[in-house]
Amino acid sequence: MKEIGILIIGGGPAGLSAAAAAADLGASVLVIERDGKLGGQLVKQTHKFFGSKKQYAGDRGYKIGDFLIEQCENNPKVEVWSGTTALGIYEDGVVTAEGEGKHLKIKPKKIILATGASEKMIAFPNNDMPGIYGAGAVQTLMNVHGIVPGQRVLMIGAGNIGLIVSYQLLQAGVEVAAIIEAAPTIGGYLVHASKIRRAGVPILTSHTIQEAYGKDSVEGAIICKLDENWQAIPGTEQDLKVDVICLAVGLSPLTELCFQADCQMKYVPELSGHVPLRNEYLETTRPGLYVAGDVSGVEEASSAMVEGRLAGICAALGLGYGSDVAPKLQAEALAELSELRSGPAGQKTVQGIKNLMDKGEAVC
Ligand SMILES: Cc1cc2nc3c(=O)[nH]c(=O)nc-3n(C[C@H](O)[C@H](O)[C@H](O)COP(=O)(O)OP(=O)(O)OC[C@H]3O[C@@H](n4cnc5c(N)ncnc54)[C@H](O)[C@@H]3O)c2cc1C
Repeated sequence: MKEIGILIIGGGPAGLSAAAAAADLGASVLVIERDGKLGGQLVKQTHKFFGSKKQYAGDRGYKIGDFLIEQCENNPKVEVWSGTTALGIYEDGVVTAEGEGKHLKIKPKKIILATGASEKMIAFPNNDMPGIYGAGAVQTLMNVHGIVPGQRVLMIGAGNIGLIVSYQLLQAGVEVAAIIEAAPTIGGYLVHASKIRRAGVPILTSHTIQEAYGKDSVEGAIICKLDENWQAIPGTEQDLKVDVICLAVGLSPLTELCFQADCQMKYVPELSGHVPLRNEYLETTRPGLYVAGDVSGVEEASSAMVEGRLAGICAALGLGYGSDVAPKLQAEALAELSELRSGPAGQKTVQGIKNLMDKGEAVC
């Protein structure tokens, strides 16, 4: 049985920031990451990030990941087990994991869950056909492994992820037949949409997919226009010959371990799914278990890093580390979060958190 001060599950921007913050205050930290490489979603983000300079805006996502990894690797208080998947959190505080085919047991004093999110799927005939991908999978194929998914793509979803991945497909020499979006407006930033339109790719709002077709893999898709009640308008069907259909229809917090640890959970649409109730300092209803990043509500890497830092400071403080500086650091992190969420994109998160707080359910 491995004993440790703070166990962090997930080595993405939230987990790595939590590790650095807690270790800087003197706590011993173990990060476990199911992938072979640390960095989470950042490893495949080749584009420059927006936001504030404090969260490395202007740098490319994978560079931010490299910096966070370096910060942890250079800290003797941080131990990393990559290729290790957390399996369960038990009543006696023991966490079980699998790594290199071995069943592992860890007994931490505090736990920070930073497991991120998973991609959403939508229902349509033949949606299980080879050639249908999530946008994150397409990014991983292209930007991590250097493989293009096909020749001609239909992108579903005009949020930032759909727009960014479409642009990366074009950069890789893949044709994007169209981006379709069920909502009447484009969800992503105008700057991304404009780049796509300048490249000649149509963005069809109020459109959806009716079906995919093909013999052994995708050969095309039937799309159609939607009316104001989101119903298909007969006669508007179009047949697009594509060999890839890419779904960029949102992410859901990866909260299985929260459920399993018996945290009180609530469905909050603004936070993209079921999320654990938690207080301002990200501690859930299970004392000593904190959440940070997309697992607490899908947002962006910038807020994931700040939430990670906040959770790391709070967990370390809970173990008696940094009591002289922690209150100031906590206040700084909280101020940074509210600054990040002050723009139009952050309002959804603010409303989601308010919905949790309003009902008095998030007071732990
Ligand atoms: C395609 C795509 C494009 C994006 N583009 C941008 C962008 O341009 N700008 C921006 O700010 N944000 C962007 N984001 C969002 C951003 O990447 C995420 O908000 C951010 O990575 C969340 O950080 P995180 O640490 O919470 O989760 P993640 O980065 O997802 O990290 C979670 C980590 O936990 C690990 N994990 C999960 N379960 C377990 C387990 N049981 N045991 C061990 N490890 C586990 C995962 O392998 C992963 O490494 C994008 C996301 C996607 C999917």
